[in-house]
Amino acid sequence: HLQARDGYAPLNSDFDNFYIRRLQLRINDCFRRPVTGVPGRFITLLDRTSDDHNISFKLTGTTTETLNMSSYNYLGFAQSEGECADAVEAATRKYGVSFASTRGDAGTSELHLDVEDLIAKFVGKESAMIFSMGFVTNATAFPALVGKGSLIISDQLNHSSIRFGSRLSGAVIDMFKHNDMRDLERVLRERISQGQPRTHRPWKKILVAVEGLYSMEGTMCNLPGLIALKKKYKFNLFVDEAHSIGGLGPKGRGVCDYFGVDPSEVDILMGTFTKSFGANGGYVAGDKKLIDKLRVTNAGTIFGETPSPPILVQIASALKIISGELVPGQGEERLQRLAFNSRYLRLGLKRLGFIVYGHDDSPIIPVLLYHPAKLPAFSHEMLKRKIAVVVVGYPATPLISSRARFCVSAAHTKDDLDRLLAACDQTGEILQLKFSSGIAGGA
Ligand code: PMP
Repeated sequence: HLQARDGYAPLNSDFDNFYIRRLQLRINDCFRRPVTGVPGRFITLLDRTSDDHNISFKLTGTTTETLNMSSYNYLGFAQSEGECADAVEAATRKYGVSFASTRGDAGTSELHLDVEDLIAKFVGKESAMIFSMGFVTNATAFPALVGKGSLIISDQLNHSSIRFGSRLSGAVIDMFKHNDMRDLERVLRERISQGQPRTHRPWKKILVAVEGLYSMEGTMCNLPGLIALKKKYKFNLFVDEAHSIGGLGPKGRGVCDYFGVDPSEVDILMGTFTKSFGANGGYVAGDKKLIDKLRVTNAGTIFGETPSPPILVQIASALKIISGELVPGQGEERLQRLAFNSRYLRLGLKRLGFIVYGHDDSPIIPVLLYHPAKLPAFSHEMLKRKIAVVVVGYPATPLISSRARFCVSAAHTKDDLDRLLAACDQTGEILQLKFSSGIAGGA
């Protein structure tokens, strides 16, 4: 740590922690390189000088094309060709790239209304509003939904944007163990009665916040369990579908679609357009009255710029393709391929003897590397085999459950996944990551 001198602490005095800063930047051998081009089935990395251990570096002028197992491109819409790209190109010619205004001033266009209508219908809610960033959606929606005197009960592993918005709201925050419905019930019991008669609720509002699909674990929320508790304890339910919208359910409509739950059972369905839709921004969907209120109380959209025209057209086109409106059959095909790929890779890794976290239908596939020292080694071995992966360690995960996280896409072919499995097999041997028999390969 830099020391404060003369009673004066420079702004970076509490910033320069070796472990967090330097090591985190160096563990990821692959993405210490900047990327270029589309983050689709393949991703191109700009090579850099390897002797430079610092944050700054020099590019060598050469590139490496890698199989991309790292982008949240679940449905393969991150692409520069095809129906979405054509529509985006035409929209850019017509509207330019910025509305140069907030929604309340000159920034509401027909494109906004179109996307809000499409996403509300897609998730099965009366109304929706969109935001220019997924992070900002949570950061500013929570303070608009609840405040002082209210209680937020949050899954322990909820995303940083949910935590950020919750703190900003001024509500009391409690947490329950990840996906543990018994622990949630314990918190509800303790917080609702608080020594008062059961008829008295000491909170203005209670909001339980979860994610549809957890991006570090590949776990899915227990939606039926949450709804059963909601009926018993009467709280509002908020589900962040950043990773589940588009990717889960027979129609790609997220966790409600996956579990066959009526969307009216969930009060707020939030999501982002950065993953399955290959775009940017976020949305909040709910009853019309609630969304109307949010429109006039939400600082992020009142005081911030609106999503840009190409982004809105990308979202609208992707939504129309998923629901079969624009190109019949293409959405279904993408969904089926994603579902097949997710299960195929997960099962293949388990067969090889890896410990794989998460739900069988999750396109996020975390594979345990255990020791943090294996993070840079795994990243390096994969890059040698021209495969780009994200590796994640402390503080994002507990120290000894460091992991690689594969993101499966509908853009991947079976051959791509076989290539990845072969590379994992070899790397697993080198780094001693596999249990000898594997789940189905035993005996
Ligand atoms: N919610 C969750 C669960 C996320 O994982 C993320 C980002 N990965 C966000 C919100 C923020 O979304 P964005 O990256 O689109 O700003």
